[in-house]
Amino acid sequence: MIQITMPLNFLGTVYREIRQALVDMAEMFDLLDQPPDVSDAPDAADLTVGKGEVCFEQVEFGYDAARPILKGINLTVAGGETVAIVGPSGSGKSTIGRLLFRFYDVTGGAIRIDGQDLREVTQSSLHGAIGVVPQDTVLFNDTIAYNIAYGREGASREEIEAAAKAARIHDFILSLPEGYDTAVGERGLKLSGGEKQRVGIARTLLKNPPILLLDEATSALDTQTEQSIQDSLRQMGKGRTVLTIAHRLSTVVDADRIIVLEDGHIVEEGSHDGLLAQNGRYAAMWARQSVEVE
Ligand code: ATP
Repeated sequence: MIQITMPLNFLGTVYREIRQALVDMAEMFDLLDQPPDVSDAPDAADLTVGKGEVCFEQVEFGYDAARPILKGINLTVAGGETVAIVGPSGSGKSTIGRLLFRFYDVTGGAIRIDGQDLREVTQSSLHGAIGVVPQDTVLFNDTIAYNIAYGREGASREEIEAAAKAARIHDFILSLPEGYDTAVGERGLKLSGGEKQRVGIARTLLKNPPILLLDEATSALDTQTEQSIQDSLRQMGKGRTVLTIAHRLSTVVDADRIIVLEDGHIVEEGSHDGLLAQNGRYAAMWARQSVEVE
């Protein structure tokens, strides 16, 4: 049982920051009961996921009425498809992710999963169906086993280890002084950016959600670590519907489809090669980034 000793306004600030960072923290929802801006409809039913099709229909949204951020987004991600969203900073990429997790309600149009409007399903079932791998995985001051198991209550040690192996962090954990019982987090062992992401991947694997929302890391990882993490994310995406919010282009090449967002509109869409051949916005972004890398 967690004792609340923090003033509530502080919790409000924490909540807003978490929402901003797209962090998957069901525990925070428990603490705060529910996000202040949205609530379950009185007759809300549990979401039932079949193929895992995600559909944005004419979606409009602004954090305040005077400033629209998304201006009529039509996007269907088929079950099992991987779609990456790219676009300039501030174009609304992360906002799309926040709306899918229903941190906010759309102001126009609708978002549906397998035909069910997000506003008509329970938030607990929605959050259970979507695995979020955030930019920065939050670690609790507890053992590394606890931190992985946070993805699913009641997970056995065998299941935790299987998830850690699949996330390629098992060998690292065994090298720690107390293995899976080593304390991590602010008051324990500090993990590197890459190690934290692997904990996030293991956590999500254990949760085994049909839909994944990846907020691609902006933190600098060395190239080898980044490639290896990308491999793990690709593996995890197999057989699931994946929406990747890409702040850089290096990781989107393999997506089934790339959506280019600009000023709240989808301005281009296609495969990496198809978009390069179009020689439009994406091709220009790609050329610019290639020069920067060189
Ligand atoms: P980046 O690649 O830089 O992360 P992004 O495309 O993900 O950018 P969003 O985070 O979706 O952009 O933000 C879109 C716009 O909405 C920005 O202009 C931003 O300032 C604004 N915005 C984001 N969060 C809030 C908020 N909580 N309240 C008000 N405005 C916000």
